[in-house]
Amino acid sequence: RADRQHDAVLAAIRNVAARLAEEKDYLTELDSAIGDADHGTNMNRGFEAVLENIETKQDDDVADIVKDVGMTLISEVGGAAGPLYGGSMLHASEQLEDGLTRESTVAFGEAYLEKLRDRGGASLGDKTMVDAVTPAVHTYKKSIEEDDLPPQEALAKAVDAARRGVEFTVPIRANKGRASYLGWRSVGHRDPGATSTLFMLEALLETAEH
Ligand code: ADP
Ligand code: MG
Ligand code: MG
Repeated sequence: RADRQHDAVLAAIRNVAARLAEEKDYLTELDSAIGDADHGTNMNRGFEAVLENIETKQDDDVADIVKDVGMTLISEVGGAAGPLYGGSMLHASEQLEDGLTRESTVAFGEAYLEKLRDRGGASLGDKTMVDAVTPAVHTYKKSIEEDDLPPQEALAKAVDAARRGVEFTVPIRANKGRASYLGWRSVGHRDPGATSTLFMLEALLETAEH
């Protein structure tokens, strides 16, 4: 089981990297409307470094691999998103020390959200990645703990919730990050970080489905 989980995590990371490479221009376009037009290049640079690093991590366990992804994102992505994505992943990786289970993946999501909110200080409705992560984590947890769904179905529901969260960022005003400098002019634009979060979750789901 450990080997299968190990391979699944590496496959997931490769799929996330591929998706972000594909969406690089789109994410940067979103960031050009309400930021400084670098979110796609930031994320892509980070995941290119992650891809190089995981080649040397083939023997590590799941928690160590995810921890290493977090550290690489912190050092390579830069901007607001790097420490938020990387720091949250690094912190949450501890929950995976006994591998991927229903319980550990819920705990990973909760720890990720907790660190993200802690570091960035953003709340739901501030038009940030928190608006995608919060509904995704809550939906995943409920689907596992209350509805007793298989993890893949729970993840599918979480992706749908994240997608609604991204759409929710369009009509609202930014209160955190660079976009907040625009005040009301940030209304009507999709948040780049919420959108990259959705793409990453979609890539995880795609990995789980294949
Ligand atoms: P920068 O704004 O430094 O250029 P990026 O463009 O890479 O960084 O990332 C911007 C994204 O970071 C935003 O779209 C938003 O989702 C997210 N973000 C910015 N500030 C915060 C914050 N305080 N809390 C949560 N997310 C944030
Ligand atoms: Mg930016
Ligand atoms: Mg920037």
